[in-house]
Amino acid sequence: MTITSICCPSRDSWNRTMDRCYRIVPCLSDPARRSALGLKFALMMLHLIYGGVLFLFDGDLIEKTKTEPWYTAIYLLLFVSTLIQYFITSGSSPGYVLDAMRAVNESNTIFRRTSVASKQPASSKNGSVVVTMDSGQSGRSVLGSTATSWTKLVMDLHPPGTSVRSLSCSYCNVEQPPRAKHCHDCDKCVLQFDHHCVWLGTCIGQGNHCKFWWYICEETALCLWTGILYITYLKTNISRAWWKSAIMILLLVILSISLIFLLLLLLFHSYLVLTNQTTFELVRRRRIPYLRGIPERVYPFSKGICKNLYNFCCVRGNEYSLEALPTAQELEEKSRPYTCLDVITCRCC
Ligand SMILES: [Zn+2]
Ligand SMILES: [Zn+2]
Repeated sequence: MTITSICCPSRDSWNRTMDRCYRIVPCLSDPARRSALGLKFALMMLHLIYGGVLFLFDGDLIEKTKTEPWYTAIYLLLFVSTLIQYFITSGSSPGYVLDAMRAVNESNTIFRRTSVASKQPASSKNGSVVVTMDSGQSGRSVLGSTATSWTKLVMDLHPPGTSVRSLSCSYCNVEQPPRAKHCHDCDKCVLQFDHHCVWLGTCIGQGNHCKFWWYICEETALCLWTGILYITYLKTNISRAWWKSAIMILLLVILSISLIFLLLLLLFHSYLVLTNQTTFELVRRRRIPYLRGIPERVYPFSKGICKNLYNFCCVRGNEYSLEALPTAQELEEKSRPYTCLDVITCRCC
């Protein structure tokens, strides 16, 4: 028996219990996954407390449920779908550069350019993988995969003369296409990196940004509806116990702060979607080499509001979309001031 076990029997038994837990649920041994699980549990509890307190205190809502069950049914549907969306988003991962590179280096992976009319996904060892190369530059063929296929492809997406070394990630040792960034939390290079969301425990980037947008949209709607129900209760139930009012007011204040934050987040991400930008690109615009020198109001990757929306909503899970850096000519065209004709013809769309 060790000295520690004699002095601290409770700690020893605690360690034994934790070891048993780790054996039953292996993911608990990882501190990052443990904190992510803790956050998921906290979010579930937060939702249940808000919903539970409402149905426990508000007799009028119970009465209304009996007369108009559809009202409560729609609310509960939103409640459940928000939680489901949260778990779907937190369980999703963005497109990783390493996976895209593996897909490119698969011998039978076929590249397709968005401008080409015939678009046929090709099968690879791991199922159907498509790499979309939206290039406005040289357009060299990269068919015929070799070990340097990925390097050639990445070089095609950057302006001529860019050195390969400047594009290599020092952590993954892989060439990064434009808009990719290494995430230190995930320890991987992420395509179209937006941010690493601690609340969801995953990175937001290409492939799951749309899921993230829907989650904050549903959460905002749920917060708004719950807030309305709380205010209705406080306004109608005058002869209630004081402690019930205190609890409801406290929860309403927290809910209002969360709602303001969610609304701003939703507006911010909607703006990013419409202009085809990421949070990282917007915040670090002056520090990202390929964005340095581009005027503030010019969105280099924007293809018009409609196309941006289509690309955002309709990107399939097995598809990697690699965007080329715009040429000087394209940037000049984008920075051209708007004329009356541009407004009439909806140039921004
Ligand atoms: Zn990396
Ligand atoms: Zn990450």
